[in-house]
Amino acid sequence: MQAPANPSPLPSLDALLRSPEAAVLLERFGRHATNAALRATLAARRAARAFPASATTLLDEAADTLARQFTASQRPVFNLTGTVLHTNLGRAPLPPEAAAAAAEALRSATTLEFDLATGRRGERDDHVAPLLCRITGAEAATVVNNNAAAVLLVLNTFALGRQVPVSRGELIEIGGAFRIPDIMARAGAVLREVGTTNRTHARDYQAAIGPETALLMRVHPSNYAIAGFTAVVATAELAGIAHAAGLPLVEDLGSGSLVDLAAWGLPHEPTPHESLAAGADLVTFSGDKLLGGPQAGLVVGHAELIKRINANPMKRALRLDKARLAALEHVLRLYLDPDRLRDRLPVLRLLTRPDTEIRATADRLLPRLRDAFPDRPVAVEPCRSQIGSGALPVDLLPSAALTIGGNALESLAVTLRALPRPVIGRIATGRLWLDCRCLEPDEEPVFLAQLPAHG
Ligand SMILES: *Cc1c(COP(=O)(O)O)cnc(C)c1O
Repeated sequence: MQAPANPSPLPSLDALLRSPEAAVLLERFGRHATNAALRATLAARRAARAFPASATTLLDEAADTLARQFTASQRPVFNLTGTVLHTNLGRAPLPPEAAAAAAEALRSATTLEFDLATGRRGERDDHVAPLLCRITGAEAATVVNNNAAAVLLVLNTFALGRQVPVSRGELIEIGGAFRIPDIMARAGAVLREVGTTNRTHARDYQAAIGPETALLMRVHPSNYAIAGFTAVVATAELAGIAHAAGLPLVEDLGSGSLVDLAAWGLPHEPTPHESLAAGADLVTFSGDKLLGGPQAGLVVGHAELIKRINANPMKRALRLDKARLAALEHVLRLYLDPDRLRDRLPVLRLLTRPDTEIRATADRLLPRLRDAFPDRPVAVEPCRSQIGSGALPVDLLPSAALTIGGNALESLAVTLRALPRPVIGRIATGRLWLDCRCLEPDEEPVFLAQLPAHG
């Protein structure tokens, strides 16, 4: 039999749309997206001259495209990197009730800026400021989008067009674009570098103070440590120097733990209470680092100064939304009951998890992981977790990991990232490491259920 003179190498869009497979796609993704995906599939085939192709093949391709389009881009993952506060993975996991409070606020009208007692306008910061004052001992508090915003706003409020002396040992860069000299410039302040990288003395600050000085600033070098022949001016002494010159002292604490972590056997990290007690007039810190809450920037200190910050028009541009305020309020309230804080605050629970318990998790998962990757050596090995997000950079926490060896570790990592709830590990010393610190027992079933079945 002879072929028709000009056979159409691809089915028509109409023919594809009439098929039963297309009906499934139409039902699931709607007419608009399904049409567009089928059209794009046909066009791509035509452009690449990749034909003939059956209707089934084309519909499968369109189904893949549609599935990708309709999968959320931001998804929950298993953070088995060994870094608890992982900035790229969203930092602190919230307590479920705090997340629920945020979701509820998003769904409904709330008392965001409404005073129920008087029926009049209220202040959004009033949901969290009194809690922050109570916890840190501050006179007043305000909150913004993140700590970078807090630093920007403080500098812009008090040092616009004026000088701010900062030690050369504190000119930090936090991952991404947060660099003290750049923030200073964008805030309109003039950075005046003092001292040297490893040693800065009281006299260096004193020599830098002049009529153009707006405030003194101390930055917690959170993601590195200077060791050896060093000298820093303690907060109390620096406060004395600032106050003698009639200037406020601002301290950027970075992580700013609200509790003394040493009480849980962790290395000490400076707290806002300590900074304020030592004489700092304003202290800024993050909401989603050691505090364990949502992304936020917190400023605590003198009422007079906080009032001026709130009067800066930039405050409006940097303010928090109702969802994060709801979550932050919930998390801060947990601090009123320190005895149960460890059980209720995931960050603290994860950071203080005993390595014996983490090892038990790894041991429980080991047989199924061996099953899933029968051609690779799988083992449980001791490892060290990091706190992350610039907190306590040199202190590592003893932990336990599942390790998977063999060749082509990058493709193994790809397989794990392609799971329904992607698993993110770390490749080092010829193995893929899955640090089990952040895999809590209640999530083990989810982790196991999605592993590839035997082989
Ligand atoms: C993390 C950090 C910041 C930035 O805080 P974000 O909440 O990420 O904006 C600023 N300063 C210091 C010292 C930090 O550690």
